[in-house]
Amino acid sequence: SSPAASLSPVKRDLINNLYNNYKIPSRESSPVKPPQITSINTLGTVHHEKSNINNVVDTTKSSHSLTSPTMKIKSMNKDDFEFGLKLGKGKFGKVYCVKEKKSGFICALKAMNKKDIEHYRLERQIIREVEIQASLNHPNIAKLYGYFHDEKRVYMIMEYMPHGELYKLLESHGPFNDIIASSFVYQIADALDYLHQRRIIHRDIKPENILIGPNNQIKLTDFG
Ligand code: ATP
Ligand code: MG
Repeated sequence: SSPAASLSPVKRDLINNLYNNYKIPSRESSPVKPPQITSINTLGTVHHEKSNINNVVDTTKSSHSLTSPTMKIKSMNKDDFEFGLKLGKGKFGKVYCVKEKKSGFICALKAMNKKDIEHYRLERQIIREVEIQASLNHPNIAKLYGYFHDEKRVYMIMEYMPHGELYKLLESHGPFNDIIASSFVYQIADALDYLHQRRIIHRDIKPENILIGPNNQIKLTDFG
């Protein structure tokens, strides 16, 4: 029987839902490519000669800095998106749920002020965040589809996680039982294993940076 029988109704529903949908996640990554928007997913091939914010940010004048040698990139701007709910706020970024107007593709958009980035001299850190996250492909790591910028902000387009932060779920429904906890730990360990094999360390693993995707899948985020 379900392990949640003696819990409060709200908790029981959530746990039952998690429990019933629980599957050991497959080790094979199954990249589900979103339609259309992949055309801007060229970050993995962008190599900046020098880590200079201008390489990432000041491309309003020429679109060339956003194009890789092999691929012409469709330039995007914030008008290509319909803005929905604000999903969260970080130190420098606000994150919104957005819909790409042409494809109808739903994603999360993180907007960061260039002024803040420059003020705190975070240019290199942002470049690193973008480059790292764009190059990763694992079912338990939030995908970064691309980025663009305008005069004021840098925007990152990410996979949307409908169930938000593990932190909030812990607050409202924790502590989790062994089944849920082990499923979450397994997925986090799998993602960390993937990162460490690539000699990448996350350095900020915490429940706020662990998001819950569809089917209660764990997604690591925030590689800044
Ligand atoms: P900090 O450095 O303070 O942790 P940050 O500026 O790097 O924050 P993120 O941690 O990336 O910003 O995002 C802030 C919050 O926005 C997250 O904690 C989460 O609540 C929400 N959020 C971020 N990305 C997504 C996403 N892809 N889907 C849904 N919600 C998200
Ligand atoms: Mg964060």
